[in-house]
Amino acid sequence: MLRDKIINAINEVGFDEYQEIPASDIIFADAVFASCQANTCGNYGQNYSCPPLSGDMNENKARFLKYDHAIILNKIMFLGEYYERMETSTLEVLDLLDQLRDRLEAEPVMIAGPGGCNLCAECSAKTGEDCRFPDERRYSLEGSGMDIVTMSRKLGMTYNGGDKKVGFFMMVLY
Ligand code: SF4
Repeated sequence: MLRDKIINAINEVGFDEYQEIPASDIIFADAVFASCQANTCGNYGQNYSCPPLSGDMNENKARFLKYDHAIILNKIMFLGEYYERMETSTLEVLDLLDQLRDRLEAEPVMIAGPGGCNLCAECSAKTGEDCRFPDERRYSLEGSGMDIVTMSRKLGMTYNGGDKKVGFFMMVLY
């Protein structure tokens, strides 16, 4: 059964928390796109998985709501006393996500994560060329307009773990 394969893969790779919800319960918020516009991560207009290139809110919702089920998962990472481990922690989480993608490669799932699409060393959006792998594009939770803060609170999952620890959120849709 597909759900069991996904849960096994999540457990094998090793994440900290997961919750299952109907995809229709995913919370989207225009305010998330508005904060993306501040471009603190540098991906606004520079990555096809991030706004405004990821499409308007309706397009983003449709991309996720064509699935029935969503499993939200996180990995809680220590960012360092002076946040010096931010980049290392992000890379470690992306590596776990790659391991999850490898395990579920043959399954009809969509896996979205933190940040923009990282399939190419540099997204072709930066030079205005077409996406190189549109069918394999990796979507971002925030870059799709998802309100992860509200969802994590509602689901009792760790967003801010205190002592410089934060939850990096990901999602498997099926
Ligand atoms: S597949 Fe490559 S070009 Fe397309 S969105 Fe991802 S990083 Fe950008």
